[in-house]
Amino acid sequence: MSAIDGLPPLREVIATHELSARKSLGQNFLLDLNLTAKIARQAGDLTGVDVLEVGPGPGGLTRGLLAEGARRVLAIEKDRRCLPALEQIGEAYPGRLTVIEGDALEVDPLEHLDAPFRIVANLPYNVGTELLVRWLTPKVWPPVWDSLTLMFQREVAERIVAKPGSKAYGRLAILAQWRTDPRIAMNLPPEAFTPPPKVSSAVVHLTALPAPRFEADAKVLERVVAMAFNQRRKMLRAALKGLAPDIEDRLRSVGIAPTARAEEIPLEGFCALARNVA
Ligand code: SAM
Repeated sequence: MSAIDGLPPLREVIATHELSARKSLGQNFLLDLNLTAKIARQAGDLTGVDVLEVGPGPGGLTRGLLAEGARRVLAIEKDRRCLPALEQIGEAYPGRLTVIEGDALEVDPLEHLDAPFRIVANLPYNVGTELLVRWLTPKVWPPVWDSLTLMFQREVAERIVAKPGSKAYGRLAILAQWRTDPRIAMNLPPEAFTPPPKVSSAVVHLTALPAPRFEADAKVLERVVAMAFNQRRKMLRAALKGLAPDIEDRLRSVGIAPTARAEEIPLEGFCALARNVA
């Protein structure tokens, strides 16, 4: 069956370019173009939209993004073995795909793409979490992106959308929910990937809010939350001792019991505390 872009099926692309998956690069490929189109659609209507894709690999998701109408895709890929396959995609969509060989942690997309753009990625999980935290903590808000559509290990996806009182609630939930609207858009079993990873995955979609839900200085909030959850079993008066000598009074003055644990405090409480200790 020929694909809508007239390009060869992904299994053939992988065989032609000898793209055997490398564990060291976290390579678990998506080879079903119906599935990659569905993932691309989770980023919303892409007509006329610019997209940053991180880790395109053999290009299944890239093809989905272009077929769904993205105006331009900037793809950053570390593995140079994938470049010829990506070049072929660029030829099928003239002027719409720019591929940069490099490490997404080091390349500045603004050198190649005008803001705002959407970010879509199926990345190795360790790199994905690091990039997510960076994308959530820019110096200025709103950020250069208007949404993120990212594949994560199911467990990490749950941490991003977790509510207070749950084990999954922590730093990721607070950073994500403070200034974005995050939701789990799709669940994927291990068999959706080649080779299959050990765990299930999920696509998380995060929409940037125009302004934070509650006022706070980003650096102070990050510090408070990191301290609170680093010792999540401790009462806050102990976990946050280093924050201020009179932390018990400060906690009380923002309506938080000094004996409470980080897990119980809603986003609003952390923001109030960050304002108080700023
Ligand atoms: N997006 C493709 C797909 O869905 O089939 C590939 C997904 S695979 C999980 C992750 C891709 O990210 C691989 O192609 C890998 O080479 C690339 N990658 C790993 N670390 C990277 C980094 N730091 N910067 C850019 N790409 C990276």
